[in-house]
Amino acid sequence: MGCDFLKLAVSGVQSLHPYLPGKPVDELAREQGLAVDDIVKLASNENPLGPSESSKSAIKQQLSELSRYPDGNLYNLRKTLSEKLAVKPEQLTFGNGSNDVLVLLAECFLKEGCSAVFSQYAFVVYPIAIQASGAEGIVVPAKNHGHDLEAMAKAIRKDTRMVFLANPNNPTGTAFDADELKLFMGKVPEDVIVVLDEAYFEYAESVDHPNGVQMLREYPNLVVTRTFSKAYGLAGSRVGYSISSPEVASILNRLRQPFNVNSLAEAAAVAVLNDDEYLQTSRDVNSQGKVQLEQGLARLGYDFIPSSGNFITFNTGVDGVTCYEKLLEEGVIARPVANYGMPSHLRVSIGLKKENERFLEALAEVQGRTAQ
Ligand SMILES: *Cc1c(COP(=O)(O)O)cnc(C)c1O
Repeated sequence: MGCDFLKLAVSGVQSLHPYLPGKPVDELAREQGLAVDDIVKLASNENPLGPSESSKSAIKQQLSELSRYPDGNLYNLRKTLSEKLAVKPEQLTFGNGSNDVLVLLAECFLKEGCSAVFSQYAFVVYPIAIQASGAEGIVVPAKNHGHDLEAMAKAIRKDTRMVFLANPNNPTGTAFDADELKLFMGKVPEDVIVVLDEAYFEYAESVDHPNGVQMLREYPNLVVTRTFSKAYGLAGSRVGYSISSPEVASILNRLRQPFNVNSLAEAAAVAVLNDDEYLQTSRDVNSQGKVQLEQGLARLGYDFIPSSGNFITFNTGVDGVTCYEKLLEEGVIARPVANYGMPSHLRVSIGLKKENERFLEALAEVQGRTAQ
């Protein structure tokens, strides 16, 4: 009786599991009967500063144009960003978040019969995009929770079309340095596209941290993705982009939805690109919050993975989901990473000083209760 629609879905989609987002504040408020203001959300690596004043006022000014289609070429954003990055405007491809661009890359270059390489504990969007395309995903075991670039280069097969790297990686916060990346790129055949996801690039503090954009000239098969969702404080407006060779960009542009970035998002992104102070404050707040959380976690006796991003993943020593649920009762939303194969870890985004304090207090409370 009835139709089994799952059987109708393409094979890659049949076995997919949907992306698990962080719990929204409103949802927890309803579930626990808490006031929205009493809840601290450190679950989705969002910018704790809120959006910049510059973005908010740009959106207000843009509102009267809402009945018009956006500029499909994103002239203003393209011009501003290409100047900022010192690349040609035609090297940029924009998306509804960089997630959109990651999926677009897989759609354009992967299909059944080919493969794509990514690391254990890497961002879960890569296996989703690979699987949906029908290609085979090759998972390379991580080294110290980070990418084992040597093993990843060796894992490339004849049928491999793409490699996904995240630097810094989410959810582990690990990063590789410029020398390691160059060594890796030297081993990758020129017909294998290397997608270097730099969603947290702006937060990376190490002097050896590579800047993918500066390597594009030397490696035409490199595609760098970045986003306005994290350090630029615009996760809700959805803007991300890739920087690649103009050839790759023109291929992506064939399949890209013509209006995949909306006009409010474009205005907000241009404004915050011109707002150096906001970016600097984002970095400073993150840098201080990282020290605060590291010290707090160490004080409570937790092992954490040193992070180059705006979040820290730590070992709860117990079941991560149980710890997550107990934190929820305290009004604190962290992120379980059991779906990444890390059942005893939790990821916490770095918040404002007060939010980090609340998190550490809640964690101490949960730890005390668990010990009894
Ligand atoms: C947050 C994140 C992104 C960016 O997502 P958007 O779609 O741009 O909001 C991309 N890659 C990684 C590893 C991330 O954590």
